[in-house]
Amino acid sequence: MHAVHQLHQYRKSLSTTTYKARGQRVQRCDLCRLAVKFCICSIAPEKENIKTNAGFLLLMYDTEVLKPSNTGKLIADLIPDTFAFLWSRTTKNDALQAILDDEQWQPFVVFPHEYAEPQRQVYKNKVLFESGKRPLFIMLDGSWREAKKMFRKSPYLNGFPLISFDPKLFLDNALKVDVAQGENTLEQNQSVEQVQASEKKKISPVGSNSRYTVRKTALEHQFSTAEVAARVLAMAGENANAQLLDLWFDVFNYQYQKSVCQRNKGNPEALENYQQFIKNRA
Ligand SMILES: [Zn+2]
Repeated sequence: MHAVHQLHQYRKSLSTTTYKARGQRVQRCDLCRLAVKFCICSIAPEKENIKTNAGFLLLMYDTEVLKPSNTGKLIADLIPDTFAFLWSRTTKNDALQAILDDEQWQPFVVFPHEYAEPQRQVYKNKVLFESGKRPLFIMLDGSWREAKKMFRKSPYLNGFPLISFDPKLFLDNALKVDVAQGENTLEQNQSVEQVQASEKKKISPVGSNSRYTVRKTALEHQFSTAEVAARVLAMAGENANAQLLDLWFDVFNYQYQKSVCQRNKGNPEALENYQQFIKNRA
């Protein structure tokens, strides 16, 4: 069990009633929280094969951890040093404070730069790391409204710089790569249809737009917590981990929608893409 699994157990123990999630009659796996027959636990990334310098600290808004659709847990599936706490503005949490005070970490709050006070240090799309320190990315995990509230009302986070990425810039770059790859493939005498089909596969890892269609946020491009985490991993120079997290998210998203949605908007090739990536890496 990782930090989000443990927090889920803890939060569940605080509840006097069962949390009513969408599709509540579905029999769910206790860990991935997908319907048992769509469980992805057996194919989860093997953490011992992950090389990362980064850590994540998830501050989760009240019932967020109870929601089967939460994607914060996908970060913890991948990154060994992922910590998770229930957010609070008043209660002082010693365990949380100890992580923030730990000298090995250089903490950043991941949040759109538009919300920064003028004096706040902000890193956009590029970040400078102190030598000898590891980046600790603090994610405010909840609905967009809840995330804004956490951002405003967490004085213990005010001293840390903000890290923010420009969704538009990211999407433009992803698109450019796709176009370039398409031209190369066409030279090999493939039909346009074949190229389009192979392009569709390639788009998945670093998608042309957020593929997260289960829970909408007010964010312009509606990135989920896991997708945002993938972007900051890429900013930290960990592209392979970013890609793996994107692919793992795709798998979760597709499997999740199998049990709750009438029409699955996830990527049907998610599993194949993810397993191919793992194989190529080995
Ligand atoms: Zn499972």
